[in-house]
Amino acid sequence: MQMKPEQLELIREQLRTIKERSSFYAKKYEGIEVADVDAQADFEQLPFSEKGDLRAAYPLGIQAVPDADVVRIHSSSGTTGLPVIIPYTAQDVTDWAIQFARCYEIAGVNVLDRVQITPGYGLWTAGIGFQAGCERLGAMAIPMGPGNTEKQLKMMQDLKATVLCATSSYALLLAEEVNARGLRDKLFLRKGVIGSERWGEKMRNRIQDELGIEIYDIYGLTEIYGPGIGISCDEHHGMHIFEDFCYIEIVDPVTGATVPDGEVGELDITTLRKQGAPLIRYRTHDLTRILPGSCTCTCGEHHPRIDTLVGRTDDMFKVKGCNIFPAQVEEVIAITDGTSSEYQVMIDHVDGHDEMTVFFETPLEGEAREKAEFELATIFKAKIGCTPIAKGVPLGELPRSEKKTKRIFDSRY
Ligand code: ZN
Repeated sequence: MQMKPEQLELIREQLRTIKERSSFYAKKYEGIEVADVDAQADFEQLPFSEKGDLRAAYPLGIQAVPDADVVRIHSSSGTTGLPVIIPYTAQDVTDWAIQFARCYEIAGVNVLDRVQITPGYGLWTAGIGFQAGCERLGAMAIPMGPGNTEKQLKMMQDLKATVLCATSSYALLLAEEVNARGLRDKLFLRKGVIGSERWGEKMRNRIQDELGIEIYDIYGLTEIYGPGIGISCDEHHGMHIFEDFCYIEIVDPVTGATVPDGEVGELDITTLRKQGAPLIRYRTHDLTRILPGSCTCTCGEHHPRIDTLVGRTDDMFKVKGCNIFPAQVEEVIAITDGTSSEYQVMIDHVDGHDEMTVFFETPLEGEAREKAEFELATIFKAKIGCTPIAKGVPLGELPRSEKKTKRIFDSRY
């Protein structure tokens, strides 16, 4: 992503004094003259920061302002180890609300809307972000928090809620209840602002149809404000990320090199205005790509767009110089005729080179099966960039698991 002059200026301003303001950065940039950074190329030489760094700085080692300036903290819980604590100044809180209000506007929400907020309130950044943005926009917030479906549905009807804010799984649960109780005609919902996670088209369509809403995906993470740093628009193709608050890069998750726009890699974010806990080249571990030419969207927004997330770097594997994500393999399986949804990828090192075999279940036999194998390998090459050995096996042949089925087997290491 080409850095804008205004973005470079904000980054330079941040870097000029960051080592004095923050012991975290004094240590991180030891021996690096960050004040000398005056071009995108210099910036791209700076080390990344990641969640592990923030954990190591627990509780408030990341803080880059005097205590008197901190007005709030949020925390993201990890599945393992220490949580991450992020301090916010009054300006940070305002900046977050400005971005969130912008998200609502892009989703077509206005002052007459009634916004039912079901994400959780508390240490987590979700609920309070939806709330602050809604109030800043001037719409009416209905701060429900999660759970208590009975009460959610009653308030939704009695208050004539027009916008639903939820995670995709809770939105689906509500949609199913609305359907089971035949409440569709008693609702006034028209928009859904839904937290972005990887979720299928089928689920999305069900929520849209059963609740009668148009869905917008909202993006964000606790380390960088929270949800609300970007959202999808009426185009429904990727999410705009606000370039006056965040500079985004897509990098090769293995080498760390910046990849050209349009190529999939890891999304890294640099905050341009954050005071309490500025983050520079922060690795989100989310995999996506910058949509080329996305600064000229038909919706009128100039902020660059990232594509729907394809997964997390933790899921990625590399074969023959190609970075591959399970979601991409799934896509290839989905568009190859004669395949079921079940597949397995085996990677091995044979005679000095990597060999990848994609097993897929198919009802086909004989020549028809061979044709499907050829087709799958061809589509794989075209979509992902390298050619696997494709092998069709009878339906039911591949192992199933009650938990998450393991599909990628790498015997090289
Ligand atoms: Zn747009």
